[in-house]
Amino acid sequence: MSRETKASRGSRAARDSRVARVNRMSRERFVRLFFALEPSAENKSLIADWRERAWPPMARAVPAANFHITLVFLGEVAEHKLEQLGDSVESISAAPFISYFTQVGFWPKPGILWLGSVDDAGPLQSLAVALRRAANSAGLRSDTRGYIPHLTLQRAVRDAPPAPIVAPDFTLHFDRFTLFESQQTRTGVRYVERAEWPLRGFA
Ligand code: ATP
Ligand code: MG
Repeated sequence: MSRETKASRGSRAARDSRVARVNRMSRERFVRLFFALEPSAENKSLIADWRERAWPPMARAVPAANFHITLVFLGEVAEHKLEQLGDSVESISAAPFISYFTQVGFWPKPGILWLGSVDDAGPLQSLAVALRRAANSAGLRSDTRGYIPHLTLQRAVRDAPPAPIVAPDFTLHFDRFTLFESQQTRTGVRYVERAEWPLRGFA
């Protein structure tokens, strides 16, 4: 390469920094993230007991330990963005709240049977909106349009299940929310807690 060409591409320092950036990008770890609410261990087991009484067994019951209500799904995020995301979430102020889970729903296309909240425009929705804004201000894309708060009970259900024999009636208390990393393992999906924030603002 001639001297002129080298010069036209800028200084050696600038080139080194470009190379470093490309190297960093190629090594960058991406993580699959979502914000969610987790019912207490006691409520998880009450929900699993009710599920057993409400329907005959189905093919792919979600393990009770995995029960959660997604607030915002972020998808694959470069690990270096986590710090900024955390900073931006710190500014959220929301009080602990109660939500009533008394509905059952079925989405035929993904074959998902879920337990839903009647809390249409309540604190659960507001928290989801606040988290979406925080994610956006940290430069992450997320969408809560058409958001329906739900807890997945069964996956890969082919035909619409009958109405539950026993109607659900759960009062769930939430005093924190969690950023989970979703990991695929040989035995199924695993959610690893990456960060947790208390709900401590005023309603
Ligand atoms: P698996 O995909 O292995 O069946 P999963 O759906 O629970 O398990 P993820 O796909 O990582 O695992 O999803 C984590 C959470 O985010 C789940 O609650 C899931 O319903 C929700 N989620 C996944 N994809 C989207 C999406 N495109 N939009 C909104 N929520 C999503
Ligand atoms: Mg999925």
